[in-house]
This record gives sequence, structure tokens and C-alpha cells, in this order.
Amino acid sequence: MSASGLNEINLSTGVDHAEWVPVASVINAAKAVAENGIFCVITIEQDSDKSEVVSQVKADEGLKPFIEAGLVKLQVNSWMPFHADSAMRKTFSNREDMLLQGCDQVLENCVITPNKEISGCCGLTFEHIPEMKLGRFSKHALEVGYFSQVQDFLKIWIKVDGPYRILKTLSASVGISSLEHIVHPCQACALLHQDERLREAIKSEYGNHMGRVLRAFYSQSLIQCDSHREVTANAS
Ligand code: SF4
Repeated sequence: MSASGLNEINLSTGVDHAEWVPVASVINAAKAVAENGIFCVITIEQDSDKSEVVSQVKADEGLKPFIEAGLVKLQVNSWMPFHADSAMRKTFSNREDMLLQGCDQVLENCVITPNKEISGCCGLTFEHIPEMKLGRFSKHALEVGYFSQVQDFLKIWIKVDGPYRILKTLSASVGISSLEHIVHPCQACALLHQDERLREAIKSEYGNHMGRVLRAFYSQSLIQCDSHREVTANAS
């Protein structure tokens, strides 16, 4: 795998994932990846009060040498409740700081699902946000779908300000009084896309944010182009 240029594999686990794939299998997979000299990130869902997957993975003696060697990295992420009866997870003390970030997925990553559909971002909310469905995969469709997104100002706004900041800006005007239940940026994003009141508020308000957001977006893009040029120049 590494001879083909693969240099990183990301695995996910946690309470919900473990219903389908045992935590021990994920740990074994991470060890196998690291043994082959490939960097591996294990993303673990934040635990509920009753689960202990984070400490189980951290305590695994077989993983420790790979973590110390920098070949395996563990990260704990907030977990979006997909259903009304989902178990509540512990809250991060820096919840609002985490939520107020711009989205670094949209307009950067496209995901091809196992059904060969193209998602406009990480794929987490693929079934919840129709605007993230970019069509059936083909090389041409990928190119067309990706570039069509720059016509969608909301995606640019989400990239720059993040969905939670937009939600904060608009929620009071549409009668949403509390955002305490939001724990994940993609949860805020799904709400922005699904709630008719918010969709209407976006349509009437976006013009007031367009100048600032587009200036920030083009500045970010220029900085990115410059750093790509530097990387390419150093590589040649
Ligand atoms: S915040 Fe929105 S655009 Fe960004 S990854 Fe989540 S669902 Fe996709």
C-alpha cells in the first residue's frame, strides 16, 4: 500500500460505530497500518456517561508504542446525535470555540460513497442535506459537481464563518432561542439547510454578508495557492 503512495489511513470508532465494528478490530487495523509504516488516525466518538471507548483505546498496550513513535494518533470528536433517542455525550468545555470555526471540508473535499454518489463534503450529513449531493460518480461528474459549488454562496459562507456562527447570527430573528443542543458543526449545518425559517432568513440576509465573506474566501484561496506553489517548487 505504501509503495502505491498511500501515506495515511483514518479509522473511526466509538459507541455508535462499535454496534457494527468491534473496537478491538479497529485497534488491530490501526496496528497493522502502523506496522506497514503508514500514519493512522483513530477518531473516537465522545463517550456518553455510560461508555468508555476512549479510555479503552488509550489504554491498549499494543497501540502505545505506535502512538509514541508518532505512527498512530488518537483524537476524540464530538458526536452528532442523528436520532431523537441517541445517547447524550459528554460536553466539551470548549464547545463554543470548536463550533465557531469555519468549515475546512466544504469546497476542499469530495467524498465518493460506496453507492458511487458524490458528496460535497465529509459525507457525515449526506442523507440530511440534499445540497451536498453532487450526482453519480464519473470523472466528468466529479469535476462538474465540484466546480458547480462555487455558485452556492451558502457553501462559501459556511467555509468562511462555519455553520454555527451563521446559525447564531440568524437564530434569534427566526424565533430559535437556544442553541445549547448543538454539539457538532455538521448538526448546525443540517439545521441551517433543513429549517424553512432559517432558509428564508438566509435568502433575505445573505446580501449583508456577501462582501466580507467573499473577501475572506478569496484571501484564503490566495494564501492556499501560494503555499501549494511553494510545496510544488520545493518538490521539483
Ligand atoms: S459543516 Fe456542513 S459543509 Fe462542513 S462538513 Fe459539516 S455538513 Fe459538510
